Amino acid sequence: MTQDKIRNIGIMAHIDAGKTTVSERILFYSGKIHKMGEVHDGEAVLDWMDQEQERGITITSAATTTEWKDHQITLIDTPGHVDFTVEVERSLRILDGAVALFCAVGGVQPQSEQVWRQSEKYNVPKIAFINKMDRIGADFFGVLENIQTTLGANAVPMVVPIGKENQFEGIIDLLTMKAVYYDETNQGTTFREEEIPTNKLAKAKKWRANLVEKSAEQDDKLLEKFLQTDDLSDKEILGIIRKATIARHIIPVYCGSAFKNKGIQRLLDGIVNFLPSPTDLPPTIHAKNDKIQRIHSADEPFSALAFKIVADKHMGKLTLIRIYSGQVKSGTVVYNSTKDQEQRIGRIIRMHANRQESIDMAQCGDIVGVVGLSKTRTGDTLCCKDNPILLESIEFPAPVVSISISPKSRTDNDKMIDALQHLSDEDPTFIVSYDSETKETIISGMGELHLEVLVERLKREFLVTANVGRPEVAYRETAVSLVEGEYKHVKQTGGRGQYGHVCMRLEPMEPGNGFEFLNEVKGGHIPSEYIPSVEKGVIAALQKGPLAGYPVVDIRVIVFDGSYHDVDSSEFAFMEAGRMCFKQLFMQTHPELLEPIMSLEVISPEEYVGDVSGSICKRRGRIESMDEREGIRITRAMAPLSEMFGYANTIRTLTQGRGSFTMSFEHYEAVPFAIAEGIIKKRIEQNKVR
Ligand code: GDP
Repeated sequence: MTQDKIRNIGIMAHIDAGKTTVSERILFYSGKIHKMGEVHDGEAVLDWMDQEQERGITITSAATTTEWKDHQITLIDTPGHVDFTVEVERSLRILDGAVALFCAVGGVQPQSEQVWRQSEKYNVPKIAFINKMDRIGADFFGVLENIQTTLGANAVPMVVPIGKENQFEGIIDLLTMKAVYYDETNQGTTFREEEIPTNKLAKAKKWRANLVEKSAEQDDKLLEKFLQTDDLSDKEILGIIRKATIARHIIPVYCGSAFKNKGIQRLLDGIVNFLPSPTDLPPTIHAKNDKIQRIHSADEPFSALAFKIVADKHMGKLTLIRIYSGQVKSGTVVYNSTKDQEQRIGRIIRMHANRQESIDMAQCGDIVGVVGLSKTRTGDTLCCKDNPILLESIEFPAPVVSISISPKSRTDNDKMIDALQHLSDEDPTFIVSYDSETKETIISGMGELHLEVLVERLKREFLVTANVGRPEVAYRETAVSLVEGEYKHVKQTGGRGQYGHVCMRLEPMEPGNGFEFLNEVKGGHIPSEYIPSVEKGVIAALQKGPLAGYPVVDIRVIVFDGSYHDVDSSEFAFMEAGRMCFKQLFMQTHPELLEPIMSLEVISPEEYVGDVSGSICKRRGRIESMDEREGIRITRAMAPLSEMFGYANTIRTLTQGRGSFTMSFEHYEAVPFAIAEGIIKKRIEQNKVR
């Protein structure tokens, strides 16, 4: 398969818009599934999905490859909500285009709006599919307007529906100007193309004119031709719409009913015709040196990004990779440039809907699973050692909440640790650690729900039932003002003494900058071999901050002077000097405690909106906006995580089960002084501060 025939796409949708049904139909029509399951019947959707659930894996649904009209399409699983930040981020990072799915009745629902915005941030070209045209209340043109106004998208219909609700028969293709009717009795595999019925002709002409006009707007030459002849050829339209979609100037719009098997083949045509292939993408650039680039070609040196790791009972650890350039063969050795380690490629697996195919070789544009990459983690680059490159990794935020965890049955401890390790291999925002002081295993993640789901998976997939402690917020400490000072570590207790003397400056940095250490010592006042020891001492002090024992962030430490003693100076003495100097100076910077702030979106019926905003304000939250959409209210707010534990219950009670909310980590902010005092006092009582 040449690269221009490859489409790597995601389907983005609000929960319930029909993502599962549409994906399944896509796989059915593209010939890879031979039996169609039915969500409606309450039956399992797909045989293979059932198997997957039994085996507790999600290999196939993570990236499923199929073919349509000589093109290779890989469907990448894209979550419909943003609670699981990591899933959204990683799928958007590796897909090239997306189908935005909307319900013909529900239109642009709040969560689809969020995912849409995220996809815009990643510059993902999209086409839209308005599904469920057979439902009562279906309104194609209403949803079209909704997409244009709410999402600000230049949405251009490629088809218009013939009828709606139970009269929904098919579509008019505005490119071929033919009516397409689907045969319900034969699972829609057969369809007829006919002349447009006379009573629909005026409408079809109007929307064809719109398509031509929108196409002409995209290009001066076409505009000129359009102004002269009032029309464009199909080839011209196809060409310009493809270009404009990839440039994100246009969103081509399709419609149908996945459930009634209508309109899916045209959607597949749309994917192939308008969404980008790897050859349409700009070259991949080295994360730290923009002179090193790879064009998307199989002839270039190999480069790939590991974007997901799944644990399979039969195959062990399977690493999903997206290949950006070159090719890779099973049995060869590649270079993990993130870890500076060589890795042997075991089996290479292409995942189809109902089977896994072992292949000998994969190349640029392919998304495949690889067995045997024991040292490779999510976000790592794999490449060719003689021609290395480091691709931009997938950014994962540090966990913001922790709980202690222990197995219900004591004998399960090893099994639990093992299972937790598996889960954290799969999910980089899930971290397992051991607190040597309390002798507890601690799991940390992106929110209460995130950890709840993982504890549930522990039970379901690894058969370990666990007790969990109370959630704890991951606070941080930071400096507010610049401070300079010195510290001398001197000890003379018989034998060889200790001497280390450092002068240091502590400077606050912008949020998100972590830690920086600079050496500005001149004239050898501190011999250079001792500088790493000073840094080591500072890092030790950073990890357990002087204020309340939380990690210190966003600080620059500059060592600019000091002195040493020929006999008594040692690495240890300078480490102690670094550690103590930092501790003392940090407390003079007017340090602050930082807490994670969550962005919150509550959806509720109108009558509860007062109670909802009351509940947010009571939790030190700030309401940012309130929107109204077809009888429901969307309240967006920022609130500190520490106040949000158990909020799911609160919302359920307040709205009698009719409200819902999503929450995701936004940033760190200073804890108000009075509250910080209380936290620090408690930490000192618990002996958490040295
Ligand atoms: P997901 O949550 O987005 O994956 O949505 P599903 O594919 O599970 O669909 C949600 C519900 O909508 C199921 O009951 C489907 O049978 C139903 N559904 C999906 N597509 C259509 C459609 O085109 N028309 C109708 N009437 N129902 C549909």
